[in-house]
Amino acid sequence: MKNILDHQFNGSVYAVNPKESEIQGVHVFSSVQELPQTDLAILAIAAKYCPETVKTLAYEKGTKAFIILSAGFSEESHAGEELENEIVRMIDDTGGCLIGPNCIGVITPWHASAFTTPIPVMDPQGIDFISGSGATAVFIMESGMPKGLTFSSVFSVGNSAQTGVEEILEYLDITYVAGQSSPIKLLYLETISKPQKLLKHATSLISKGCRIAAIKAGSSEAGSRAASSHTGALASSDVAVDALFKKAGIVRCSGREELAAVASVFMHKPLTGKNIAIVTHAGGPAVMLTDALSNGGLQIPSLKDHPKAPQLLEKLFPGSSVANPVDFLATGTAEQLGHIIDACEHDFDEVDGIAVIFGSPGLFEVYDVYDVLHEKMQSCKKPIFPILPSVINVKNEIEYFIQKGHVFFPDEVVFGNALCKVAATPEPSESYASDLPAVNVAAIRKVIEASSDGYIDPDKLSILLDAAGIPRVKETVTDTREQILSAAKEIGYPLVMKVVGPVHKSDVGGVVLNVNSNEKLLCEFDRMMKIPETTAILIQTMASGMELFVGAKREDTFGHMILCGMGGIFIEVLKDVNVGLSPLKKSEALDMIRNLRSYKLIQGTRGQQGIDEELFAEIITRVSALMEVAPEIFEMDLNPLLGKGNQIIVVDARCNVVR
Ligand code: ADP
Ligand code: MG
Repeated sequence: MKNILDHQFNGSVYAVNPKESEIQGVHVFSSVQELPQTDLAILAIAAKYCPETVKTLAYEKGTKAFIILSAGFSEESHAGEELENEIVRMIDDTGGCLIGPNCIGVITPWHASAFTTPIPVMDPQGIDFISGSGATAVFIMESGMPKGLTFSSVFSVGNSAQTGVEEILEYLDITYVAGQSSPIKLLYLETISKPQKLLKHATSLISKGCRIAAIKAGSSEAGSRAASSHTGALASSDVAVDALFKKAGIVRCSGREELAAVASVFMHKPLTGKNIAIVTHAGGPAVMLTDALSNGGLQIPSLKDHPKAPQLLEKLFPGSSVANPVDFLATGTAEQLGHIIDACEHDFDEVDGIAVIFGSPGLFEVYDVYDVLHEKMQSCKKPIFPILPSVINVKNEIEYFIQKGHVFFPDEVVFGNALCKVAATPEPSESYASDLPAVNVAAIRKVIEASSDGYIDPDKLSILLDAAGIPRVKETVTDTREQILSAAKEIGYPLVMKVVGPVHKSDVGGVVLNVNSNEKLLCEFDRMMKIPETTAILIQTMASGMELFVGAKREDTFGHMILCGMGGIFIEVLKDVNVGLSPLKKSEALDMIRNLRSYKLIQGTRGQQGIDEELFAEIITRVSALMEVAPEIFEMDLNPLLGKGNQIIVVDARCNVVR
């Protein structure tokens, strides 16, 4: 109540308590029955009293908005869950909205309905922040406020009984008014129960000009499910979150400081290129920032030989450098900073953004420098990022700078990493099943409907791959000596023999390459048929080329993740795979390929022939198309495909159906 009274709430506040007559100067009603019509009710009473209170408010007092701070509901016990369900039923029935229970509340520019402190500065252009954890919401605000971050709304959703993070994001999306609503959203999530909803509204908000960053903590039980393939081992549910965020264009953060830094980057003008000018009066932090930016994929172009460089150098003290970092020494003045920023803005066309590092050794005040920063940040088109390390020496000046509505970065490396992360997050990629290549749906459905749960037999799997238009090696399954001889004649030597039955064929001696005679064929046939679990022998054309990998895995409500990479050690040892969420557009598949660490090998390097990446991308989208038509597939592993020039073919496939 103190928060509401202290923070400019304009309406009437009523208090209800059976024991008091006045609280903080507000008249107290002894029960909810006595209340006049009430719009919003905040409940901070024991869980067991909540249902009857909600009932009176919802049905008799016209209350549509509820915030239940109390704990003791579904998070605690089954009985608590029943209370929670009863409350939701009544609020749904009367068309109301419930935040909580078990939350810290809601803060908007109109009412500070949270029981915790601090209440941040509320500003319509500040951050919209939605948190799945109350305490973490407080800690995130505490990390952001001293840096100048302001908030437009804070929602702590608690148990999300009726309204979760996804619903609040939906609300922010449908009520979004360009130029009025805040363009910055931060999320803290522990579960994503409605990934498709999150994807839809995040994509929509970002395409309206918003920027979104999120922490997703904790990985679900699904991640530890026994893995039977590379795809299973590599694709945990956390990877699905990465894929979802990438598709939505959400910047994923791992902790509070990083989230605050990314939010601070969002508060500045967007960076439209990769080139940063670092302007500093101290060497060390500029070197550290140079490292952070260049390791993170941004560039610090040399300005030394720029025709306008000598002109700028003349305005600085002797010993200064305009090489980039532009170092104007510990004695550098506010006026000089102005000249440097002007040169970066007007003369140095290659510069896309300016990072200014300016602290103080404590010998003099720096108000004049921060005034120049303030003025240039308003007048320049390029983004200017203020890194102000002297949080003690020039505490007052920093406070003065923040008061003008700015956000600052205390640490250059935290800033640099955050800027790189924002720059590396792709635009949202809206994709639909209709973007996928056409596949033979009837043939796919026929195989899927005829197979029971478990691994699909090789001959059926061949039909699936053919129906999806995924090129595969020629092969035949045989189980007698006579059959294998005639099949070998058909396929031709050299050929490859594999056991049918065991899941990991090489591990049991069940793969023989380069078989080139009838004698070898029959001798291996006799040996391989004795390998436990072996039911037949598969023979294939011997292919050659670079080993590639494509996989797919269903992840609960997320749908299918599609993975790709190079085979062999690249996947086993280096775990060099990229993931996307189905349905995957060709452009997304190409991005997945191009962001592999081993991409240079795919392109071809040092006399080694590369592979056709367009065709590889096409195969990836065809796997995605297969998953959309056959959602019963739990996991699929094409490992390896062999690629050479403009040919890529699958030589080993595994596919597991789980309904
Ligand atoms: P598994 O994965 O069950 O051990 P694979 O069928 O993937 O068995 O075969 C193991 C390895 O043998 C492959 O990674 C590949 O290097 C090679 N290989 C398999 N089939 C062929 C083929 N048709 N042509 C050339 N090499 C092959
Ligand atoms: Mg294999």
